[in-house]
Amino acid sequence: MTNHLFALVRENLPADPDKTFIETQEGRRYSYGDLLLRSGAYAAALTELGVKPGDRVAVQVEKSAEVIFLYLGAVRAGAVFLPLNTAYTPAEIGYFLGDAEPAVFVCDPARREALAEASAGVAQVLTLDAAGQGSAAEAADRQREAFADVERGPDDLAAILYTSGTTGRSKGAMLSHENLASNARTLVETWRFTPEDVLIHALPVFHTHGLFVATNTVLASGGTLLFLPRLDPKRILDLMPRATAMMGVPTFYTRLLKEPGLDRSATAGMRLFVSGSAPLLAETHRDWQARTGHAILERYGMTETNMSTSNPYAGDRVAGTVGMPLPGVALRVVDPESGAELPVDTVGMIEVKGPNVFRGYWRMPEKTAAEFKADGFFITGDLGKVDPRGYVHIVGRGKDLIITGGFNVYPKEVETEIDAMPGIVESAVIGLPHADFGEGVTAVVVPGADAPDEAAVLAHLEGRLAKFKCPKRVLFTAELPRNTMGKVQKNLLRETHAALYGS
Ligand code: AMP
Repeated sequence: MTNHLFALVRENLPADPDKTFIETQEGRRYSYGDLLLRSGAYAAALTELGVKPGDRVAVQVEKSAEVIFLYLGAVRAGAVFLPLNTAYTPAEIGYFLGDAEPAVFVCDPARREALAEASAGVAQVLTLDAAGQGSAAEAADRQREAFADVERGPDDLAAILYTSGTTGRSKGAMLSHENLASNARTLVETWRFTPEDVLIHALPVFHTHGLFVATNTVLASGGTLLFLPRLDPKRILDLMPRATAMMGVPTFYTRLLKEPGLDRSATAGMRLFVSGSAPLLAETHRDWQARTGHAILERYGMTETNMSTSNPYAGDRVAGTVGMPLPGVALRVVDPESGAELPVDTVGMIEVKGPNVFRGYWRMPEKTAAEFKADGFFITGDLGKVDPRGYVHIVGRGKDLIITGGFNVYPKEVETEIDAMPGIVESAVIGLPHADFGEGVTAVVVPGADAPDEAAVLAHLEGRLAKFKCPKRVLFTAELPRNTMGKVQKNLLRETHAALYGS
């Protein structure tokens, strides 16, 4: 037996150990040879610190090449890598460390003091900063022996990622070696990654998108990553002539579209733009195609499932859809009440099954049992439909469904109508407590130039949507609240406007 996930990296190592794996914004270059040495050094350091197979290694650090080596080192040591969002407060970190009980916690040196209380129960607390300096890096520097990978099978855990928790408390999704390896292989094949690929990587590395979708896919093809610490449209444009692909959340695309330099010649060397983690507006898809000639490839997944669907590489990339189930993934739409499978074009709960689907929630057997069907399908919590051509459409999270006067309203349907109006940038439709209706449909709208007023929006929707779907009120705001992955935080909107209808 080998180390199942790291074996995939080994199989795809370029023949030339000098080949660049990661280049940072400062122009620092880390080769595949460095990857092998540094990840081995981290694995040895963790082992020396007492980390045993199955132990968790929790990490809250800024993005760097070193944290990727630490991730791979944890995997090679047989440990479970547990990255935490850099935005989490000490109180939140305290909850995660108490829940996960890691053997080691690595944090930013600047936060060491602030996190002292939260991490008091962890045996080993080390540091690592954005430049790759800190006691964790020093512990790796001290290692002299080559590291022999700890054997791990397909079902052993490689990582725990806490879900982004836009509602409710975050749960730790347990991901096995095969969950990650199978998805990386599938994405390499589906998106045609080769050693020639150079991927612009401006995503955070504590989330499934930046860590697994982007990094593992490049690792599994022997390509190169151009690391940026965060979304920076100008720098992305500068990098495009040297790159072949980019993965981003929808905000990447809307922000890049504001750059006058974005055009066909700037993107001529690029072969692939991928979007996910939040819905891409059909308008953004169209604008991007008009400006660059490239059709953005939208895909759908979640922390618990890795990637489940993708628009085709060759074939129609249909705006407003997330494409078809990936090879090996089964997807169905069911009636949330009865569980019966629904016919095409009918909205219901999306369920998926396949090697991509996680092993359950950390120390939450009841929650895990409640989210899986007896036949192994995972209930995603996303509502959607499959159209007659087999493309999956996501209409929103189950918990965002609005029930008004006993009728179901899917926010996406209302948002799509509002977003199509001239003078509207975007909208979020939510349900707010309402004495008569239970929930009152409410639109929160970001106006553009020459925006319509509330009465004009309501007049536009009349006749286009059934009366029960029409908002009772339209509120205007400069910006919708979003988390780091570009998801609109409807829970915040619901809290802010909770008393709108006086109940
Ligand atoms: P996370 O676990 O943070 O990756 O969030 C997963 C959730 O993001 C999914 O359950 C969907 O609600 C949403 N999501 C991901 N990709 C898309 C997409 N392409 N379109 C719409 N929603 C998406």
